[in-house]
Amino acid sequence: MNEAIDFATASAIVAALPALGVERIDLRAADGRALAERIVASSDLVPFARSAMDGFAVRAADTRNAPVTLPVSGAVYAEAGRAVHATGTATAIATGGAIPDGADAVIPIEDTIVSKDAIAVARAVVAGHHVFPPGEDAQAGDELLPAGAVLDPAGLGLLAAAGVASVCVYRLPRIVLLSTGNELVAFDAVPAYGQIRDSNVVTIAAELRRFGIASLEVASVADDRAAVTAALARALDSADLVITCGGASVGERDFVKAACTGLGVEFAFRAVGLRPARPTAIGRRGAATVAVLPGNPASAFVALHEFVRPAIAALAGRIDRMPRIPVQLDGTLHARRGRAYAAYCRVRFRDGVYVATPLANQCSALTRLAAEADGFVIVPADGRDLEHGDAALVDIIRWDRVHQRIDAAVRT
Ligand code: AMP
Ligand code: MG
Repeated sequence: MNEAIDFATASAIVAALPALGVERIDLRAADGRALAERIVASSDLVPFARSAMDGFAVRAADTRNAPVTLPVSGAVYAEAGRAVHATGTATAIATGGAIPDGADAVIPIEDTIVSKDAIAVARAVVAGHHVFPPGEDAQAGDELLPAGAVLDPAGLGLLAAAGVASVCVYRLPRIVLLSTGNELVAFDAVPAYGQIRDSNVVTIAAELRRFGIASLEVASVADDRAAVTAALARALDSADLVITCGGASVGERDFVKAACTGLGVEFAFRAVGLRPARPTAIGRRGAATVAVLPGNPASAFVALHEFVRPAIAALAGRIDRMPRIPVQLDGTLHARRGRAYAAYCRVRFRDGVYVATPLANQCSALTRLAAEADGFVIVPADGRDLEHGDAALVDIIRWDRVHQRIDAAVRT
């Protein structure tokens, strides 16, 4: 019943989850969102020729017999509208100023000798000299961003320059997170002997905010079939993605998967051949997705990054997998045929290669593992042990931590 599918197949299933609907939002709120439309420039960007320098607009032909002296007949500052340039003169112009009609080149102030009411020009210039032509950024009809592009601050600026005030993007998921376990107490409570603080909801909620979500509701549920069923039923009615934590294995109080099935959830997989996240399951009911995570902190964290993160991205119309990099292993890891293994590791950069050192104790009950690791060494399911010096792959949790260490090394 809980036959495990292989890691790569499970990854492909979550990456293929269908995107939620779309919404039109203010451009400034769209950082990180996936565009649901192609954006095309409605006019030339910018629609007029501009000066690239502070100096003087001239007609290039008037400098042909340089050295020449040209009387200064007017001034155009950046905010000036359309101006007219008199043939045989120079018009003072500021960087960004619209080239006045009749002028076709700009002579930088440092290339002139300015006297009262006139400039001396030593060398002839050609048309277009120090002029930004119209439509240099984009011409009317050019694609600015394709559908599916993930917006970033510079992309928002490009759309802002083009006068795009709102964008049609994929919705972010509304999430309900259910934590199960009679032994759990809130993180700010004092646990009695045998109780433990619910640390997973704290980690998961913080990670979810980084992944990008619309809303998050968190609830604790007792290990009771009716209670689990009631909480799941409510969550399935309101959320795009229901995440459960704990009660996911085959213990006699592990009700989550059975309760899901009873409510009509169809599982794409009920277990994954990936230690330590084996009990992870992904299902759907109607348009709602369910992600069932194991309770052990180190297991929940692997499942969160390997499956929930790409699931959220797919729902939001994006691709977002953990960055996977080639490393050299500094340690040994035991493989098991038929089951991949995500081993917590630290990563550093040495002599031009990334080196991954597995953490000593990989017990899935530990909370420290995720806090101290930079990533997971992915040990394939082919049963071949990884030895010291072997090439391996690491899924990176936190690039920032790895980069800080590289930075410290290159600056000393
Ligand atoms: P379970 O998956 O419910 O069988 O739980 C496995 C182990 O993880 C047990 O030792 C639980 O106490 C622990 N655990 C379950 N849920 C949490 C949680 N939310 N925070 C911290 N530990 C948990
Ligand atoms: Mg439990």
